[in-house]
Amino acid sequence: MDMEKIVSLCKRRGFLFQSSEIYGGLNGFWDYGPLGVELKRNVKEAWWKDMVTSHDDLNTLTGAPQPFQMTGLDCAIIMHPQVWKCSGHYDLFHDWMQTCRQCKKLVRADHVWEMLEEAEWVRSFAESIEATDWDDLLKFNSLRSSQWAQRKGKKLAPGLALVRNPDVTLSWLAEDLRSNPEMRLDLPTLLRYLATEQKAETGLQTPCPHCGGDLTEPREFNLMFKTIVGALGSAEDAAFLRPETAQGIFVNFKNVVDSSRVRVPFGIAQIGKSFRNEITPRHFTFRSREFEQMEIEFFCHPNESAAWYRYWRDRRYEWYLKLGLARDRLQLREHHAEELAHYSVGTADIEYAFPFLPPGEFGELEGVAHRADFDLRSHSEGKLVKKDGALVVELGPDGKPKYKGSGKNLAYMDEMTKERYLPHVIEPSSGADRATLAFLCEAYREDTAPDENGKPTERTLLALHPRLAPIKAAVFPLVKKDGMPEIAQKLYLRLKKDFNVFYDDSGAVGRRYRRQDEVGTPYCFTIDGQTLQDQTVTIRDRDSLEQKRVHLDAAADEVRKRLEA
Ligand code: ATP
Repeated sequence: MDMEKIVSLCKRRGFLFQSSEIYGGLNGFWDYGPLGVELKRNVKEAWWKDMVTSHDDLNTLTGAPQPFQMTGLDCAIIMHPQVWKCSGHYDLFHDWMQTCRQCKKLVRADHVWEMLEEAEWVRSFAESIEATDWDDLLKFNSLRSSQWAQRKGKKLAPGLALVRNPDVTLSWLAEDLRSNPEMRLDLPTLLRYLATEQKAETGLQTPCPHCGGDLTEPREFNLMFKTIVGALGSAEDAAFLRPETAQGIFVNFKNVVDSSRVRVPFGIAQIGKSFRNEITPRHFTFRSREFEQMEIEFFCHPNESAAWYRYWRDRRYEWYLKLGLARDRLQLREHHAEELAHYSVGTADIEYAFPFLPPGEFGELEGVAHRADFDLRSHSEGKLVKKDGALVVELGPDGKPKYKGSGKNLAYMDEMTKERYLPHVIEPSSGADRATLAFLCEAYREDTAPDENGKPTERTLLALHPRLAPIKAAVFPLVKKDGMPEIAQKLYLRLKKDFNVFYDDSGAVGRRYRRQDEVGTPYCFTIDGQTLQDQTVTIRDRDSLEQKRVHLDAAADEVRKRLEA
């Protein structure tokens, strides 16, 4: 499916806009429009309702290892800087970044080859040497390469060594091929040759996905946004925008236990904004610099944590299926031992086959991690590191803790067993924007539906789960006369008390249906001639196109019944 079509629908119908668009936009920031805000709110509300407020704490349905409670929090975005020092984010929350020596753009080191694969200049170069696909790029043709460099290359990849100095660049390659006829020229090697002007001095270079220029060696880049708290603005006043919501939950663990009646095992949920200064924000809202997370920290007894980890991993995976993601586009992937964070005992990612990814590839929607007692211990004792297989407080050069913890005892006292222990934590951490994007991508389709004359006509459809649909129902008077608008408005006002509904009386009714189909409205009511006689209206289903008559007084119940089905 074509991602561009989804992006264009999002803009055209008011789901998503580039932030500050009238000033040219700001990379990595997005605004949700009138329909987008409803859709994303519905995603968050479905999550909150399913995980927190209507959670089955008596455990009659969910198949949990034992009954458990869920509660919520809403923490500040800016927290005490020590939080990030003890959590490890201050020292460790970085990506590797490379800078282009020509265009000065920054690229995340582990994204370079993926971006090259998508780069227009690489595609254009491949075409010029008549390589049919990416794997076939190793077919090298010197004459065509320099012709491309002089024409398209100048525009598409002005920084590429091949463009700036084709003779020298190609001579390195020709020389190496001559002296080593056995040399297998695979794709990365070929692109590196194209980016290299002075091979003897620099070795082979990596090309910039944007302009083809040569990239610097990777260096660390901390992803936390820095800010200043207070008027003085001195170094001690530096603070950070949170890169995840989780830490607010850990530092409030004791407050929640002391102020409410929750008992381990229990979970604390939070939805809120997080900020990461991503080096290469891309793929629409998938990788943004400001985004929203929906996180749960679930506290349990260490002996039971493995079972709880499996429970949450499977339950969260099922949640996405229930709300409409297709099983063959959704996968649960356990991390290999080498992928695990130093404190983690197990992590699984829930991943979706987003249409902007190459076929067969999946992007992370949510991570479910077994974090043991890492977080509560860090906030009690100080930043932890792994030494000889055990987690110990990291010491500074003076032999004292590098970053001191709060010193508070965050252990939990089980009043029944009289056992005192640090609970283990299972963390299902998901992104509200990525989930919203996945639901949008899944819902987008094009099909045909009969118009008012019964003629099959093309339509664009967002087959969103009714719970997620921004508008639940639309109300149309068939014509703007004979008292139909009056009845329609009455019905509209009645439905509006309970649902987000839309009134439309302009254009042919077939076109009105299609406008609603395109934004995912599951039900449309039409007031017609028969309504005037028997007070019934048609309710038309977006997906099956089935129409049924219901009494005006029963319309609200009908919507409710269908939403709950
Ligand atoms: P990635 O590997 O894609 O950068 P991550 O493993 O760093 O993601 P986590 O730290 O596990 O992500 O964050 C939990 C969730 O928050 C992710 O599964 C994702 O849904 C969301 N998320 C993380 N970073 C971003 C971002 N830059 N833009 C949008 N959502 C994000």
